[in-house]
Amino acid sequence: MTDPYDDTLLERRRRLLGASYRLFYDEPFHPVRGDGVWLFDRHGAPHLDAYNNVACVGHCHPRVVEAIARQAATLNTHTRYLHETILDCAERLTESLPAPLAQMVFTCSGSEANDLALRMARTFTGGEGLIVTEFAYHGVTQAIAEASPSLGSRVRLGDAVRTVPSPVDCGDGEAAMGQRFAAGVQAAIDDLVAHGIRPAALLLDGVFSSDGIVTDPVEFLAPAVATIRRAGGLYIADEVQAGLGRTGTMWGFARHGVTADLVTLGKPLGNGHPVAGVVARRDVMDHFGEVARYFNTFGGNPVACAAALAVQEVMAEEDVIDNAARVGRYLHDCLDELARASERLGEVRGSGLLAGVDVLDAEGRPDAAGAQTLVDGLRRRRVLISATGPHGNVLKIRPPLVFAREHVDRLSDALAASLAGWATPR
Ligand code: PMP
Repeated sequence: MTDPYDDTLLERRRRLLGASYRLFYDEPFHPVRGDGVWLFDRHGAPHLDAYNNVACVGHCHPRVVEAIARQAATLNTHTRYLHETILDCAERLTESLPAPLAQMVFTCSGSEANDLALRMARTFTGGEGLIVTEFAYHGVTQAIAEASPSLGSRVRLGDAVRTVPSPVDCGDGEAAMGQRFAAGVQAAIDDLVAHGIRPAALLLDGVFSSDGIVTDPVEFLAPAVATIRRAGGLYIADEVQAGLGRTGTMWGFARHGVTADLVTLGKPLGNGHPVAGVVARRDVMDHFGEVARYFNTFGGNPVACAAALAVQEVMAEEDVIDNAARVGRYLHDCLDELARASERLGEVRGSGLLAGVDVLDAEGRPDAAGAQTLVDGLRRRRVLISATGPHGNVLKIRPPLVFAREHVDRLSDALAASLAGWATPR
């Protein structure tokens, strides 16, 4: 750290914020302004954002900013009053989802959405058991942290939570991959039942982000979804990462030819404004409504819904999802080329504007330190990415959906330069 001003911020941060917060990068980044795919530091230097999926239509998109400001200046109350914008937003979202996902409730965060979806599934099925992947992340509430093994072994899994091995593409096709994954789900169900616990739900991140990013081959999810339903449980699609166009299609689970019983939304929905929610089958929602009332003070307030509505309008008007598919193909081609040229890059996974690239050591093993070296190398070249996965060795590239080819070129050049300073070519 060389900037004395940022040093003072670091010191204040250590003093004021809790120890559980983490900063990115060996040289921390201090953005002061955002515009589209760019984040600017206080000296005005532009940094290419290839990480932040929340600002899906670009940082500070003027249409979204204007919608938030206009609604905030007019009225901001809550969902216990009639208001058109809440209904317009819910209508637009539910219409974009396949039947029978017909009704929704709003929350402030993806964690709350998953927590609520789990309560709904437990209420509907009468079961308690929850199945997640072995390195899942679904959020911060007590119930959901207990179903987020990526938080580490010191965060205890819930008594009614079981994990399944993350899906692995062995190149033997979606049917074999689907059967393998479904066998893990069946084993988890069997173990729950053996302990006298009825299965309530299978909760899956549609892009398996914390498991190292697994999106393909499409349709591999179908047998696992059939398996949980046969056992009387529901399938909750966590679309907090996958939803709203990330993979080049509107919904991550729909790529797999399955429909969900409950869908949770978050991150990109408000382009940075806190708005999230649960969409459910009408019978599941009805059942929950019979046993409990639901109110969330800030969730779905008119400002939040104005933001979410504006995001969806911009997505449609600017063809953002098509862009994610088109530019995403180019991104994957460029990353494949870099991976072919460097023995330290392994498999490239992902779809649309989401990519995971394995970083390997000289013996071909997962190399977390190497991934961090590359992440920091890119940051010094003013390109922002991160690392993920069970071994922390997967480069996570997940830019705003308005990324263009020229931005991919810049990212590729920075990655090539960072590799050149670190790894020998193949
Ligand atoms: N689900 C997934 C798949 C996520 O990636 C996250 C956030 N990283 C969450 C849920 C939790 O969302 P939030 O941080 O808005 O509570």
